[in-house]
Amino acid sequence: MEDCLFCKIIDKQINSEIIYEDDICVAFKDINPKSRVHLLIVPRKHIPKVSDMEEGDEKMMGHLIKVAKELAEKNECKGYQLLFNVGKEVGQIIFHVHLHLMGR
Ligand code: 5GP
Ligand code: ZN
Repeated sequence: MEDCLFCKIIDKQINSEIIYEDDICVAFKDINPKSRVHLLIVPRKHIPKVSDMEEGDEKMMGHLIKVAKELAEKNECKGYQLLFNVGKEVGQIIFHVHLHLMGR
């Protein structure tokens, strides 16, 4: 997808602190962390927001949660929040689905 910041990070056209990647998703540090650990887990597939999910995307979306759980453990988070912002009305600013992992 042209002009999508997260597609460019995934394609490594733009630098970011990528800490995990596999066939389905990439995880990198949020540039403006709101918690000790603040990672974004992003599917390689460009979907603007959760409400644009299509039939067949369930497995990919579930995978994001599994990766978040593993990264929370790796980062020794005692507790953590998992968040999808869906829509500009609640503060979504990047229109490529991403799961926030915010942990302490
Ligand atoms: P949203 O509000 O769309 O759910 O969250 C977007 C997140 O992306 C924000 O927490 C913001 O700090 C982060 N972000 C925005 N631009 C960049 C960037 O260029 N690099 C990284 N690593 N994170 C970014
Ligand atoms: Zn994208």
